[in-house]
Amino acid sequence: MISIAVSTLGCPKNIVDSENMMGRLKLDGFHITDQPDEADVVVLNTCGFISQAVEESVNVILDYIEFKKEKKIILAVVGCLVERYKDELADKIKDVDIWLGIAEMNNIGDKIKTFFPQTKFVSKYKGKQWDTKLTPSHFAYIKVADGCSNRCSFCVIPSIKGNYKSRDMGDIVDDVSKCVLNGVKEICLVAQDVSGYGHDLNPSLSLVGLLKRLETIDGLKWIRLMYMYPDKITDYLLDYMALSKKICRYMDVPFQHFSTNILKSMRRKETEQSIYELVNKIRKKIPGIFLRTSLIVGYPGETREDFQKLLDGMDKLKFERLGAFIYSDEEGTAAMELPDKVSDDTAYSRYDKVMKLQQKISLNINRKLKNKTLPVMIDHIENDGIYIGRTQFDAPQIDNSVIITSSGGNNYLPGDFVNVCITSAGEYDIEGMIKQ
Ligand code: SF4
Repeated sequence: MISIAVSTLGCPKNIVDSENMMGRLKLDGFHITDQPDEADVVVLNTCGFISQAVEESVNVILDYIEFKKEKKIILAVVGCLVERYKDELADKIKDVDIWLGIAEMNNIGDKIKTFFPQTKFVSKYKGKQWDTKLTPSHFAYIKVADGCSNRCSFCVIPSIKGNYKSRDMGDIVDDVSKCVLNGVKEICLVAQDVSGYGHDLNPSLSLVGLLKRLETIDGLKWIRLMYMYPDKITDYLLDYMALSKKICRYMDVPFQHFSTNILKSMRRKETEQSIYELVNKIRKKIPGIFLRTSLIVGYPGETREDFQKLLDGMDKLKFERLGAFIYSDEEGTAAMELPDKVSDDTAYSRYDKVMKLQQKISLNINRKLKNKTLPVMIDHIENDGIYIGRTQFDAPQIDNSVIITSSGGNNYLPGDFVNVCITSAGEYDIEGMIKQ
């Protein structure tokens, strides 16, 4: 049997694409391995979202070309980077056997088969996508939509992925049910904008409608909402979340900036004022919620005053979790054409200021958890026997961990829930002991 190893770069949405692709390849009669050393074919699923990701993807392709020379494998490169730069890549990098953009990824099995004309493949594909996971067995990312119909000035996603397209609700519920049967306790709903789920369908559906169905799945404990565009966070959704026993008190809303001038130039729909109002409303309706946001520093035309507004917004709104990116010119975006580019030195120094301020905010927030007892999901066990877990306020592989210094002599498995009394708090991770 021909063995394929899939390597994935980029965000959780890419992990879902790789999982779907691996499920299809298995049904097409291939063996999936997690060991490139044992594989006949390596498929690299790339990210091309920002320059940094492009650079990383190209470096990994070059590493795999060296690996290919040594092991004589077939090398396929697929995904966002290829969708964005296929012709240039194929022109400059000759040793890749298969290049497939996002729209062509469904054909990966057929393309690979052409390299093995003597092999007989027994196809078991019946239109089912999902049966192979890259994440640990107790949590899964579930994509509810793809693409984006917004046109933020700095973003290449709409040109790579096209307009927003929701998945069929029945398919999503089926995927989640299958995951739960296989031991998944937590699902993280992902899309370019989870809050917009269903608006494009006919008849239109809503995220709340989807959540209502997911909540009835026995055995599913946590549902996490990631990447919410602010304008579709409705009162109906917030009221529903406030009463839910399964939806985590967590929401990831990338606001990008707090200066109205910059937001306008970014073609975002919010203003400084509307962001303050929305954040206050979310916190009022769902007391104790942890909010995550991401910000861009060094956007063209960002003045000292604009940057001060960004720092003021962070200081006043005190996001529990926050990530920042330094603006980079991306080919084909409107922002690339803007004048008044911020110098690298200024952008890096602004980034440092943002991260330092957030460390202080995060430390204060974490300290308030001291002596509280919180439900924690065990994620993994370190070699020295220390359990590492997470509260509902932290997304897997993205946010903070709880380091469990004493388990009271009991044994636990990933996905088990325990009550942990928090004993100490750092800027990121916190420590605690299991309370029997
Ligand atoms: S909403 Fe997000 S994915 Fe859509 S264009 Fe803006 S930044 Fe890009």
